[in-house]
Amino acid sequence: MADKEQIMKLLGEVEDPELRRPLTDLDMVKTVDINGDRVRVEILLTIPGCPLKKKITDDITAKLKTLPDIREVQVDFGVMSDEQRKNLRVKLYGASAKPADGSTPVAGDFAARVIAVASGKGGVGKSTVTANLASALSTLGFKVGVLDADVYGFSIPRILGVKGQPTIIDEQIIPLRRNNIQVMSIGFFIDEEQPVVWRGPLLHKTINQFISDVLWDKLDFFLIDLPPGTGDVSITISQALPKAELLVITTPQPVASHTAGRVARMAEKTNLKVLGVVENMSYYEVNGTRDYIFGKGGGMTLAETLQVPFFGEIPILTEIRERADAGNPAPLDEKSSISEYYLEIARKIVARKA
Ligand code: ADP
Repeated sequence: MADKEQIMKLLGEVEDPELRRPLTDLDMVKTVDINGDRVRVEILLTIPGCPLKKKITDDITAKLKTLPDIREVQVDFGVMSDEQRKNLRVKLYGASAKPADGSTPVAGDFAARVIAVASGKGGVGKSTVTANLASALSTLGFKVGVLDADVYGFSIPRILGVKGQPTIIDEQIIPLRRNNIQVMSIGFFIDEEQPVVWRGPLLHKTINQFISDVLWDKLDFFLIDLPPGTGDVSITISQALPKAELLVITTPQPVASHTAGRVARMAEKTNLKVLGVVENMSYYEVNGTRDYIFGKGGGMTLAETLQVPFFGEIPILTEIRERADAGNPAPLDEKSSISEYYLEIARKIVARKA
């Protein structure tokens, strides 16, 4: 007959799908009853009605049935008490995620490097670049968080293919995950069809909450998708995360790069360092011939003017648009031939230490 120790050992190989840690490390296993070839396990969930119950049940059942003595597995669920949730939060993220004076913690507390992705105007592909760059950094083995701060046109959840409602433990929000990328967006809390009207102070508060009340799990890179232009959000970010570096996305036409130049001047005013420039929608290639639909060289010129590195050009490709619409970024898909555009930029960013 199987014994409790064997069962606990196997439960230690089953992860909570949200927190990505073994159930045993999370103190989620309340009881294990063994009765001949039957075992009953009671799991404590962080919140009632957790949508991942089925996955947890399936994972536990499959794991325990690998024991030859076990024929039947029953998984029951209970819910953690407030005290247990608090203990869990402390165990996972330390005693106090927030400074005692109520100020927003600086980025060093949860991320090695903070990169805010900006553009002069909308529609240049800023969000698409952010999502693909996050995917590329993750593929290179880094722990990445993405904050969708483009609160007027949040599209990160769709491009990264993440859906659902984040769990809240002890007043702290657990980011959703795509592969190993941690993602937070206002889009998880409101209906995409609903227009959002932001008043200044609320916007400021929401962005700060997304930085200080989200349990970002020890990130190497924290990417922030800023709204286009030079509005309030950038100022909030620069105050909350003074060590953020600004990555500027532009299309190649001189007007666009001129507009992007304004972003760079905003960086100066807010004391953010400009990390470099990426040019998107650089050309469209048919049968080996490049058509420079939106002009040529704007990104490089902008980088030279700002005296910052130029990280590269990304062509206009149907596959990029299709993957963005399908929530399937190329760098997470080994079969895709276009990942290299983003991987190359990611490697250059990694090579430039903050
Ligand atoms: P922004 O965040 O700057 O407003 P998006 O990332 O939402 O822009 O991109 C705008 C549109 O252009 C989207 O439909 C996206 O799929 C598409 N897009 C972005 N980059 C490319 C590219 N390199 N090739 C083809 N389509 C692209």
